Amino acid sequence: MKELILVKNGEIALKGLNRSRFEEILIRNIKWRLRDLGKTTVRRAQSAIYIEPAEPDFYDFDEAISRLQKVFGIVMLSRALVVEKSMEAILSHIGGYCEATLASAKTFKVEAKRSDKRFPLTSPQIAAQAGGKLLSRFPHLKVDVHNPEVTVMVEIRDFGAYIHGGQLHGPGGMPVSSSGQAMVLISGGIDSPVAAYQMAKRGLQLSAVHFVSPPYTSGRALEKVETLCEKLTPYTGRIRFFCVPFTKIQEALREHCPEELFTVLMRRMMMRIAARLAEREGAEALITGESLAQVASQTLPALACTDCAAGMLVLRPLIGMDKTEIIRTSREIGTYETSILPYEDCCTVFTPKHPRTKPKLQFVEQAEAMFDFAPLVEQAIADTEVRYISS
Ligand code: ATP
Ligand code: MG
Repeated sequence: MKELILVKNGEIALKGLNRSRFEEILIRNIKWRLRDLGKTTVRRAQSAIYIEPAEPDFYDFDEAISRLQKVFGIVMLSRALVVEKSMEAILSHIGGYCEATLASAKTFKVEAKRSDKRFPLTSPQIAAQAGGKLLSRFPHLKVDVHNPEVTVMVEIRDFGAYIHGGQLHGPGGMPVSSSGQAMVLISGGIDSPVAAYQMAKRGLQLSAVHFVSPPYTSGRALEKVETLCEKLTPYTGRIRFFCVPFTKIQEALREHCPEELFTVLMRRMMMRIAARLAEREGAEALITGESLAQVASQTLPALACTDCAAGMLVLRPLIGMDKTEIIRTSREIGTYETSILPYEDCCTVFTPKHPRTKPKLQFVEQAEAMFDFAPLVEQAIADTEVRYISS
């Protein structure tokens, strides 16, 4: 008799022949997230993953479960007791194991699942016997099959019978890195951390690039962005972080180009540099936090101009979201409080009073031809600082 964590993956189970590759990646991510909590064996069978601590009595199950609730690819999980596959063993342990949850509940039900069909009782028979046992031990309880406070599960699987007091939700999605790698342009704002979260959820491994403009932007503004990345790492895993000095490029744009095109020109420079760094990293796409019509640089013509400069796939997961929806997610994932700290971003340096909302690519390219920006781009890439951010 021992305790373990039972993990169920949803969408991965649909992946046919690739399924085993997805499961291997998920298992690798799980091991990485739990690496400092003590020795465990992680194995898979019957579309579930079993995490068995070597010393269950000393294992911090609560911490492990709260970390696993942020591992993409996990749909459901539960802390469970494994007993021998016999009705006798199930009935003798179920009351004690569920004591803490059931003592304070008013209603419950037992659900049974029998994936090992050799087990002599059917699922309804298992549920009825287990329910009867619990009712006699906790006479204050009532059975409510439709809306119970607690659902006790009994699962007959290949290596044993598993008892647990209900399942918790995981974050869903696909395991990080199962879809490849992308580079997120991260600012200190509310949007880009949410965009990063959403694309990691679809299985992308992330690196991040941030543009700084000292002395116009401060060290604290950079720290804020690093904190945002740190807050994302429970979901994304460690992030390779690139900090690009952007002051000279912004000053050159201010000096040589029409003021009303400054924002779109600056965004194009960011895209060019980000794409170069991404290629070097083996990333196949860029991610931004842009949302249609949110600001002047996020109209269709402006986005089209920005896109052309990237020369690489640009993912904009927030494009159809309202600010209120983005804020809701940012609160849920814990980045909101940091995002609203009032430090300047390089985007707010030299912002034109009347930015062009419908820039024409032809004029944008003419403006760029007014000076030779290539050496400045090369220099910025050469001066970029790189480090890992992990939790
Ligand atoms: P955010 O809330 O993410 O800052 P925003 O609504 O303020 O977005 P902009 O400031 O126009 O919009 O920026 C649009 C996108 O450009 C951001 O979501 C981000 O992906 C990228 N970006 C902006 N500033 C920077 C920066 N300093 N470094 C890296 N990327 C940036
Ligand atoms: Mg911003």
